Amino acid sequence: CKFSRSLLPRPRRLLLLVNPFSGRGQAMQWCQTHILPMIREANISYNLIQTERQNHARELIRQISLPEWDGIVIVSGDGLLHEVINGLMERPDWEQAIKTPVGILPCGSGNALAGSVNHYAGYDMCLREPLLLNCCFLLSRGGVRPMDLVSVTTSPAPNSHAAPRRVFSFLSVAWGFVSDVDIESERYRGLGSARFTLGTLVRIASLRSYKGRLSYLPPTSHTPQTPVNHLLPPLDQPLPTQDWVTIEGDFVLVLALYQSHLGADLHAAPQARFDDGLIHLTFVRAGISRATLLRLHITCRAFRLQPLSPRGTLTVDGELVPYGPLQAQVRVQTFSIYVI
Ligand code: ADP
Ligand code: MG
Repeated sequence: CKFSRSLLPRPRRLLLLVNPFSGRGQAMQWCQTHILPMIREANISYNLIQTERQNHARELIRQISLPEWDGIVIVSGDGLLHEVINGLMERPDWEQAIKTPVGILPCGSGNALAGSVNHYAGYDMCLREPLLLNCCFLLSRGGVRPMDLVSVTTSPAPNSHAAPRRVFSFLSVAWGFVSDVDIESERYRGLGSARFTLGTLVRIASLRSYKGRLSYLPPTSHTPQTPVNHLLPPLDQPLPTQDWVTIEGDFVLVLALYQSHLGADLHAAPQARFDDGLIHLTFVRAGISRATLLRLHITCRAFRLQPLSPRGTLTVDGELVPYGPLQAQVRVQTFSIYVI
């Protein structure tokens, strides 16, 4: 009868966003063979939308009616989740919108967040279908955990008089070696995640260093969670002299990571926890000779990076952003991710 039916828990409704071109272009095939059978088995109802271009998902998420969905799940690499998170934060109702649980089913070539999720669920490191199946299983169980969001202010595009841009990031900011590999290895996309390995070998053969200034705020003081960048002055104004540490010199790489993994098989910041309120900052400086590289790992709440070499690449969550001064602050907000 009507009465008893209304007492049954209704099935979860998930919006699946699939980038058919992610990784080796196998996302739709893996939907049919792995993802949808498991989701149906878990009695989850779903709508599946294939993205047609870059920023399609971001625009969609800005407009949809969120109460209709229990969660938004991306079937791709980290890049598509970056779009979804930013789409949620660009909504007028962002404070409520960002509470929508999100999930990641790894089908990309950059599956760093899936690597972290897999790790904290207690699974052994794995790639491709085994990683996907673990993440499908976690998604079916439906437990969520909070995860830190980092607010990143990037320079405007060259020759534009626009204001600095703010984007939200759940994974990384990279300059130098790491971002070079990420971008230059795009041409090896057919290799899947192996492209990072090959790209790395290509780049080591011609190790570059870049002049720059890196400033960071160590995590000594208590930092409340606020949506404004209260630790940072505007990008074109000097940093406070108190508490901040500044290093100037030749850098081979600067990597700010807030999750444990930089790739599904790259456990780059083992101390990182989903919501530790910390940015794990690794930087490698070129020594007097090319043979002596100084590698340092610190944690901070905020940092500013000022590249002084005229050309280079900067990425946020693996996505290219305009080259120029950039700054970031952690714990501006948290979001919920399916992990347990
Ligand atoms: P991968 O890990 O394989 O790089 P991503 O999810 O990171 O996969 O996606 C790579 C890029 O493709 C991202 O910049 C994303 O915004 C973009 N993108 C998403 N959907 C499409 C599409 N249908 N066509 C082209 N690019 C897309
Ligand atoms: Mg990517």
